[in-house]
Amino acid sequence: MAFETETPDLVADLNARLRNASPQEILREAIDYYGDSLALVSSFGAESAVLLHMMAQIDKDVPVLFLDTGMLFGQTLDYRKTLATQLGLTDVRDLRPSFADLATQDPNADLYKTSTDACCNIRKVLPLDRAIQGFGAWITGRKRFHGGDRLRLAVVEKAEGKVKFNPLANWGKAELDAYVAEHDLPPHPLVAMGYPSVGCWPCTSPVEDGQDVRAGRWAGQDKTECGIHVARAPGAVHDVGGDI
Ligand code: SF4
Repeated sequence: MAFETETPDLVADLNARLRNASPQEILREAIDYYGDSLALVSSFGAESAVLLHMMAQIDKDVPVLFLDTGMLFGQTLDYRKTLATQLGLTDVRDLRPSFADLATQDPNADLYKTSTDACCNIRKVLPLDRAIQGFGAWITGRKRFHGGDRLRLAVVEKAEGKVKFNPLANWGKAELDAYVAEHDLPPHPLVAMGYPSVGCWPCTSPVEDGQDVRAGRWAGQDKTECGIHVARAPGAVHDVGGDI
């Protein structure tokens, strides 16, 4: 298992070697390197079925971390259950905000109205930080075509002491759609209602044809990421806003 002797060079070498690899090759390499120290983080959102299906074809027992923020659409919670069952995933873990954080910072569940950064911090960033402690590396579903900071997304990167594999970084919408059709994967129910990206209900809007995939996330705000994928200065409070 390589992570115990991991060096910046190793991450750079992995990235150089895998930058044009297929998503499945990247997933297999991640498993080879990290084994039991690897998790996949999924929002069970609009495009999540592709990566989850690929992983299920390789290893159904890899831990899948799902952030149940307490603010998700009911359709997402239903989709999480049906998709996990259909794919045979054996270890989907529901991550929830701590009772203490909710009681002290968001007792009325309306923090998103005054600070989306603080709300994302207690409902997404901190629960994932706690859950990811025991892992050396994780897999995300981010893609460059989503734009913003993701335009420069590497296939393998290191952040906050963890290696992140982004197997779908190179894929565009056409490849995702073709994979879904080939494997007859069930769509998230909100996609047909105009939501190409799905997060929490207070912060997700449907988009018009031709708008960016993530245009409906925190629409009208500068915020584009929840904070999970934002680099933090040493000792910084997790106060910047992304999705998985
Ligand atoms: S996306 Fe909105 S509701 Fe969800 S955690 Fe962030 S601010 Fe809160």
